[in-house]
Amino acid sequence: MAGASAKRVANTGEASAELFCRIGEFLRDNHLSPDPLHYAFAYRVLTDTHGPLARAVAHLTDGGVRLSRRDIENLGGEIGTLAPPIPTEAMVLARNEGLVAQTQMQVEGFTDIVQAMRAETEGFGRDLAASADAIRHRHHALGPETLGVDEVVRITTRMLDRVRSAETRLEAATHEATELRARLEEARDNARRDPLTNLPNRRAFEEAYAAQVATGASVCVAVCDIDHFKRVNDRFGHTIGDRVLKAIGEALCLGCEGHLVARYGGEEFAILFADVPPDAAMAALENARETVAAKRYRLRESDELLGAVTFSAGLTAAIDDEQFGTVFARADALLYAAKHAGRNLSRFG
Ligand code: GH3
Ligand code: MG
Ligand code: MG
Repeated sequence: MAGASAKRVANTGEASAELFCRIGEFLRDNHLSPDPLHYAFAYRVLTDTHGPLARAVAHLTDGGVRLSRRDIENLGGEIGTLAPPIPTEAMVLARNEGLVAQTQMQVEGFTDIVQAMRAETEGFGRDLAASADAIRHRHHALGPETLGVDEVVRITTRMLDRVRSAETRLEAATHEATELRARLEEARDNARRDPLTNLPNRRAFEEAYAAQVATGASVCVAVCDIDHFKRVNDRFGHTIGDRVLKAIGEALCLGCEGHLVARYGGEEFAILFADVPPDAAMAALENARETVAAKRYRLRESDELLGAVTFSAGLTAAIDDEQFGTVFARADALLYAAKHAGRNLSRFG
């Protein structure tokens, strides 16, 4: 008796261990974390292997397909806590960049294939046309008793038609690839542009800095920050604030024409002066600042006076191929010195 009971216990232990292993395998095969929710789902599937849930899972995973999150939810399971984190803006950007680069490579490869195929079919078509001409020529020379020549000519002509139609399709595909490439370039450009002001964004600015430094150009960086901008928003609302941002962006572009003006973030703009002596850069910056300060902005709808909007700025020259972060931090410190000195000022250092 005691022996039979011990055996039963041992069998139960083995069955549990086996079930545990199978649950582990199920989770691993479906790339599910060992979260209790996933574990409970796997347990339900594997403890009733002929039940409707197990059958539905078997049906969905037939052919080695993994269960998706949606499958599990549709089957009444819940998704556990180890779900991927919500991507940050930087992650999304990086992913988009990767996608763009990947697709671009695909397009390049596709275009190459299409061009190679086109060259081949062109040659093939030429050869076929030459063969058809030769056959026709022989046919005329030897007379109608040359058996089968008509048939050969017919086949060759049909093949020629096919080649021509393939060429037309290839041409259309090449055209599509060219358009796709243009759209990808546009997407790449959008990733470097601020949608509100349509100015280059921080990413574009930092890339431009690196590119200029790489060429050995002497570079100055200015950081401009609108003074008391929060008050504009508080008093007139965010939409008017947005308009002011656009207007300041335009004024900076005009005042610093020929130099790269970017919206670096929020109410901050950055200007890249390449191969310009620092005093000339300072003169352009001061000119822009004074022009902006002299303007009296009005509301388009009511003509209500917004008053003066000013900005403060810090300007610095990069020393050799200094890291962007170092140069920017110096310009930023100068900007804050200008703020503390009373705003509507520029500082160089
Ligand atoms: P300071 O002179 O010290 O720079 O004061 P400030 O009010 O300009 O600076 P603060 O950093 O306190 O406020 C910046 C404000 O800029 C707050 C934020 O809502 C506003 N802002 C940032 N981005 C945008 C935008 O895209 N549109 C609008 N309308 N406001 C923005
Ligand atoms: Mg600011
Ligand atoms: Mg500000």
